[in-house]
Amino acid sequence: PAITRDRLRVAIQKSGRLADPARDLLASCGLTWRESRDKLFCYGESLPVDLLLVRDDDIPGLIADGVCDLGIVGRNVVVEYDLGRQAGGAPGALEEWRQLGWGTCRLDIAINDDERWAGAEQLAGKRIATSYPHTLGRWLSERGVEADIVTLSGSVEIAPRLGQADLICDLVSTGGTLAANNLKPVETLLHSEAVIAGPTHPLEDGRADIADMLLRRMDGALRLKETRLLMLRAGRDVLPEVLGKLPEGGEPTVLQVDGRDEVSVQVLCHNAVSWQRLEDLKRAGAHTLMVLPVEGMLP
Ligand code: ATP
Ligand code: MG
Repeated sequence: PAITRDRLRVAIQKSGRLADPARDLLASCGLTWRESRDKLFCYGESLPVDLLLVRDDDIPGLIADGVCDLGIVGRNVVVEYDLGRQAGGAPGALEEWRQLGWGTCRLDIAINDDERWAGAEQLAGKRIATSYPHTLGRWLSERGVEADIVTLSGSVEIAPRLGQADLICDLVSTGGTLAANNLKPVETLLHSEAVIAGPTHPLEDGRADIADMLLRRMDGALRLKETRLLMLRAGRDVLPEVLGKLPEGGEPTVLQVDGRDEVSVQVLCHNAVSWQRLEDLKRAGAHTLMVLPVEGMLP
C-alpha cells in the first residue's frame, strides 16, 4: 500500500540559479522553515510543507519515485528526464503544474562562429556534445538526422575546442558564454523556464489539500509580483489619446486635479510597463508618469 503522509514535500535546488528565486517564491506564500539555509532538509513551521534541497538533476526522479510531491526545476530538466524514461520503455512521470516565468533559457544548437548554417541535415554524421542527449535525440530523429551524441555532464561549450565534438547543444540565456567560445546559436530545441513539476496523477491523502493551498497562494503571489500601479497626469483635452495608450489592465481611475484643467489617472497593470509604453503615453500628452510596485491587494 502507498505510504500516507500529511505533510507536503517540495524539492528545490540547493544552490545555483534557481535556488534563491525558489525560496523567495515559497517565502512569499507565507512559508517559514526551521532549518538553516545550508541544510538538506527544511522543516516547514507555518505550514506542513517541508523542503528538500538537492541538485536540480535529482528533482524529477525524487518526484517520480514519490519521495517528493512537487519540485521547482527548469523545464529542460523535466523534459530530459521524462524522455529518458520513455526511451527506457516507461511512461512519462511528470507534468508541469505551473509555469513560473523566470529561469528562462533556451536549449540551442550552436556551431562555430565561422561556419554557415544550412539546416539540420548538415548535422548528419557530426559529433554533438550535450548534457541533454534525450531531448537532442528526439529533435534529431524528428528530422531523420543521424548524428553522434556525445553526452557530457558539464563544460559542454569547450568540447569543440578540445576536439571532443564538432558542435554543441546547450542551454543559452544571453549567448555570452557561446560568444566567448567562438560559437553561435543556430537552432532552438526548447524554450525553458522554471516550473512547478509534479506527478501526472493528483496527490492523495492530506497532501492534496496542502498542495491546493500552496498553489493558490503561489498564483496570488505570482500575479501580484507582476502587478504595477501606473499613475500619470494629463490635460483634460488629451485624455482620450492618453487612455488609448494605456496598457491592458484594470479599469483606469480618472480623478480631477483641484483647480486645474487636469486629471490624474491610475490603472493596475498586470505586466511590467515598458519604457516604450511610457514614452508613447508622454507623446500622447501625459506627464509625471510613475510606475509603482504593489505590495498587497484585496479586490
Ligand atoms: P546543480 O548543482 O543543482 O546540478 P546546475 O549547474 O545543473 O546545478 P544551474 O546552472 O544552477 O544548474 O542552472 C539551473 C537551471 O537554470 C537550468 O537547468 C536552467 O533551467 C536554468 N537556466 C537559466 N539560464 C541558464 C543558463 N544561461 N545556463 C544554464 N542554465 C540556465
Ligand atoms: Mg544540475
